[in-house]
Amino acid sequence: MFQNNSNLAESLHTASGETPVIPAPRSSPLPPLQDTFGRTFDYVRIAVTDRCNLRCTYCMPEEGVEFRHRDEMLTAEETLRIISVLAKVGVKKVRFTGGEPTIRKDIVNLVAGAAATPGIKGVHLTTNGLLLHRYAKDLLDAGLTGINVSLDSMDTDRFMRITRRPGVDTVLNNIKLALDTGFQRVKVNAVFMQGFNEDELERFTEYTKDHAVTVRFIEFMPFDAEQIWSTGDHFTSAETIVARIKARYPDIGPAPGTRTEHHTFKVPGYAGKIAVIPAFTRSLCGNCSRIRVTADGSIRNCLYSDDEYNLRQVMRQGGSDDDMIALFRKAFADKAIDGYEAKKRSDAKVDITQLHRGSMTQIGG
Ligand code: SF4
Repeated sequence: MFQNNSNLAESLHTASGETPVIPAPRSSPLPPLQDTFGRTFDYVRIAVTDRCNLRCTYCMPEEGVEFRHRDEMLTAEETLRIISVLAKVGVKKVRFTGGEPTIRKDIVNLVAGAAATPGIKGVHLTTNGLLLHRYAKDLLDAGLTGINVSLDSMDTDRFMRITRRPGVDTVLNNIKLALDTGFQRVKVNAVFMQGFNEDELERFTEYTKDHAVTVRFIEFMPFDAEQIWSTGDHFTSAETIVARIKARYPDIGPAPGTRTEHHTFKVPGYAGKIAVIPAFTRSLCGNCSRIRVTADGSIRNCLYSDDEYNLRQVMRQGGSDDDMIALFRKAFADKAIDGYEAKKRSDAKVDITQLHRGSMTQIGG
């Protein structure tokens, strides 16, 4: 774990050999990042790539999507600068997302840099788990706090059908490896899709019997690059998922969960927990605390809003930290009350210059 900025700077020598400048923390904290509804945004989900080694049917087609050019992607230094700037306005939690973040060869350094940033209390990673065995120990040593592994089926053929790639055993082994390596917060994200994996609710819940993980059933969302959402066949509401869980496990009890884990339960005597996330029903917007930064450096104030604020441009045009903070404040002053209003505003605005990110891999989840 890095003790001070000079060690961090040394370890982050860029390919060009320059030592990035890590700004010293300010004396007095700046006002937190808030919207006009009084919500405070202290959690950033920052995408570090739009590429992925899977092709999930609820995310992108086999041929992929319009991936951004390498020059448009945030560099490691830019990513860490964004984190240190956000820490000045009260951000405490960082989640690295993608695409698939572990395809970045410098993912351990990114985690180390985030963990060493003054003010940051927790660094998390969302991964499909396929490459986790390469980095688990190094990520833990670098200060990673928690891992969310995306796994929508435990069945070999079905995994292949959903992801268009093999690998279910590797992912399951890597979840176990994360626990054995010593990660205290290991979660399994399963997108719940009617006609795909709804009959695995019990299998996933039974997985928590001996594994101290939180299995989170997530409502299907319309960020699939126009593949299957439009059929309307696959959506199941959080309410229905909860009802099915309670029907199968009548003695299940409530358990503590995070702001997003709207419904969290524990089967008596089981090591782990299960949770249900109303990601499409959007009944959690009142608690929203999320900032999103895409891999190409755009700020998004809501998953369902197409409004974007070009942070990369500010940075590459020599903008100061205050300029960056001003852009974040603008983005959140514009934030809608919930994901429905955000979507309505975006649909009403026909701005052909605005990149419509139809796939979750382009947004960063
Ligand atoms: S839908 Fe938008 S406002 Fe609601 S929780 Fe998600 S990001 Fe926040």
